[in-house]
Amino acid sequence: GWNWTHRDPDYLPPEVDTTKPSIARVYDAFLGGKDNFAVDRAVATEGMRHFPDRGEGARNNRAMLFRGVKYMAEQGIDQFLDIGSGLPTMDNTHSVAQRINPAAKVVYVDNDPIVLAHARAILQTDERTRVITADMREPEVILNHPDVEGFLDLSRPIGLLMVAVVHHLADAEDPNGLVDAYKARLAPGSYMQLTHFCSCAPEMRELEAVLLQMLGTGRARDLPEIVRFFDGLDLVEPGVVHVPEWRPEEPVRYPLDLGGICVAGGVGRKP
Ligand code: SAM
Repeated sequence: GWNWTHRDPDYLPPEVDTTKPSIARVYDAFLGGKDNFAVDRAVATEGMRHFPDRGEGARNNRAMLFRGVKYMAEQGIDQFLDIGSGLPTMDNTHSVAQRINPAAKVVYVDNDPIVLAHARAILQTDERTRVITADMREPEVILNHPDVEGFLDLSRPIGLLMVAVVHHLADAEDPNGLVDAYKARLAPGSYMQLTHFCSCAPEMRELEAVLLQMLGTGRARDLPEIVRFFDGLDLVEPGVVHVPEWRPEEPVRYPLDLGGICVAGGVGRKP
């Protein structure tokens, strides 16, 4: 429910810890947003010192998120579950989907409480949008949450978004098993969009080391490992590629630079 009493968009709930960097805020800093603190900017600055992409990798990822949502909405998908949705930016999943289909519904899920605080301030008037704080490592909690199960119709196709979030899972957390648990609950005709840090450039190992040390998370995996997340789905053309190459709306400039190669992903359809 919408029992949010703080109307001040700058209000921060006490569970937001501004003394430690958070993934959502560091990503916002890479994107060039303003919803981040000095501790977060320090991680982004150190990351860009080792991986000088000027934030293009994050922006390319976000742009592919929107092309994927647009594609799914054009295929008739009218309900989306956006896991690891991040802080709201200039454009967001629900606005992209609702431009194609004004009735499209979106549930945003993130385990960082700052996402709920900011998203609620923006979304409190939108009847077709929900935002919940939950951890993707608990698929049953998310899929059985009243704002998911009671708001989306999981017996019909949905668009499942796991964009730039699975690389925040360590191997020991069984990322494949977790992604499989979500895919198992999708109705036939559903889509999954997933993007992931790609170990395609040697420099990526340096960015990974900075993120693991300063943030505790951020694993690069190789293309076959990223493709494996789509097992059981039919890959939409052009398959799993560097994000600028996924159904680009403008000509891709080759060779891809650091910001072009650091994230790979695709969209798959459940048969
Ligand atoms: N999906 C958005 C995009 O691609 O633009 C945001 C990506 S951002 C790099 C990753 C987001 O995943 C962050 O907001 C972070 O808080 C969230 N996240 C990380 N681990 C998570 C987990 N275990 N459960 C839920 N969200 C998580």
